[in-house]
Amino acid sequence: MLRIGCHLSFSRGFLAMAGDAEKIGATTFQFFTRNPRGGAAKNWEQEDIQAMLDVFRRAGIAKPLAHAPYTLNACAKDGNIRRFARETMADDLKRLERIPDVMYNFHPGSHVGQGTEEGIRLIADTLNQVLWEEMHTTVLLETMAGKGSEVGRSFQELRAILDRVELSHKMGICLDTCHVWDGGYDIAGDLDGVLGEFDREIGLEKLKAVHLNDSMNPFGSHKDRHEKIGKGCIGLEAFRRIVNHPALRGLPFYLETPNELEGYQEEIAMLKGMAAG
Ligand code: FE
Ligand code: FE
Ligand code: ZN
Repeated sequence: MLRIGCHLSFSRGFLAMAGDAEKIGATTFQFFTRNPRGGAAKNWEQEDIQAMLDVFRRAGIAKPLAHAPYTLNACAKDGNIRRFARETMADDLKRLERIPDVMYNFHPGSHVGQGTEEGIRLIADTLNQVLWEEMHTTVLLETMAGKGSEVGRSFQELRAILDRVELSHKMGICLDTCHVWDGGYDIAGDLDGVLGEFDREIGLEKLKAVHLNDSMNPFGSHKDRHEKIGKGCIGLEAFRRIVNHPALRGLPFYLETPNELEGYQEEIAMLKGMAAG
């Protein structure tokens, strides 16, 4: 069975998120650990977490994916911005220990003119300060579109980060279909070729999650504008192949398409249908 869900609002807490997921037929979901524009996270009530886990059992929901605020930049030039990213990630990871079988996804960052190599070094340095051996959360680097000076635009860059992380066995990759398409990986025309390259550069065993988004922009545009599934440049047939690919179909899929709950409900039903057929 395809495990699929979407990005949900965390503003009403854990139980409300699980309720939303159940309502729209999702068997997983993603949420921002705090306001994506930054700022302090609210207290996480143990009762609320427990109530969420009860819904998980009843509705067959699993593998929630926590997303770090996308404004964090672990490889900023400014040391204060890097410190903010490090402290936020450390706080998120400490909190997430209370949720079983959770993963934590973050955008590697933008090197803002320092160069990719220095960016990679700073990102790995941040990770080496926030990971610890006994943690149970898997930390995911997201594949990026290569907008501006984004690091993580190629499988080689992501591998270079992992190579420098001491506890890299705590880490994996989240493949965003819009981002890799915009980044110059032809998942519509040559999915096998792209996944073969992923396997050679990083290893498919490191692939832990998929962000399912169509793209408003043509191949290699480095833009990062998400579109509804089948309404963009990647196209519906590519998504049929993606959710059925033997290297991907066992992974959790998270929609980040421009939708409200009803739109997500329709996309989830459509993709479940495509995976069954
Ligand atoms: Fe993201
Ligand atoms: Fe994404
Ligand atoms: Zn994006």
